[in-house]
Amino acid sequence: MATSRPKIPSELRRRVLIEAGHRCAIPTCKSTPVEIAHITPWAKTQKHEFKNLIALCPTCHTRFDDPHGPIDRKAMRQYKANLTPLLTISLANRNGQANMLAAYQELRGRFAEWLPAQVEHAAIKSRRSSSREKIKRSKSDAVDKLAWAIGAVADFQSAWGESEVSDLAGAIFYHVADWRDEVESAPSPLPTELKRRDILEEISEASTDLHLMVCEELSM
Ligand SMILES: [Zn+2]
Repeated sequence: MATSRPKIPSELRRRVLIEAGHRCAIPTCKSTPVEIAHITPWAKTQKHEFKNLIALCPTCHTRFDDPHGPIDRKAMRQYKANLTPLLTISLANRNGQANMLAAYQELRGRFAEWLPAQVEHAAIKSRRSSSREKIKRSKSDAVDKLAWAIGAVADFQSAWGESEVSDLAGAIFYHVADWRDEVESAPSPLPTELKRRDILEEISEASTDLHLMVCEELSM
């Protein structure tokens, strides 16, 4: 490609190195020396952004860059997300930051209750042997938790205002809610293509992105 690639600014480079403790960011590796890798290739983003950069040793970098290698982009984003626990975020210097973080933790907590209940209900509804009573019970449990999740999404979006982060949280919620509506309107046992969907896998990449965006926003 003809586009010339600018150097990573030294301040940004330092932040990425410090985040990983100047060691390979894959926790079982932790080798040195390290290089800075782009999680989504530079050729695609044409940008050096903190959320897309990670420190890797040359061996892990090569394994990651190999399209047939064992480390995919989704795994790498997860390694990145694991480097930025929310607890290290400084809450001192920005208006509303504490509320934004609290709303995010609330959202995560509510989703962590709602999603398994919804998945469990779908699993029960997809089994021929499930009794009407059992289906009804699991549905009502999921509906209660859905109500809490809706409240958490609304609170999250009001704390974060109109933003990319709010949009992504909404998109994740609606993706699951659409699947949930399909499960509800389908007969029991659920048709095969619905039964086969792995909703947690479908939202996992977006959830990691949301986490990274929240960390990025709150640590600025
Ligand atoms: Zn490594």
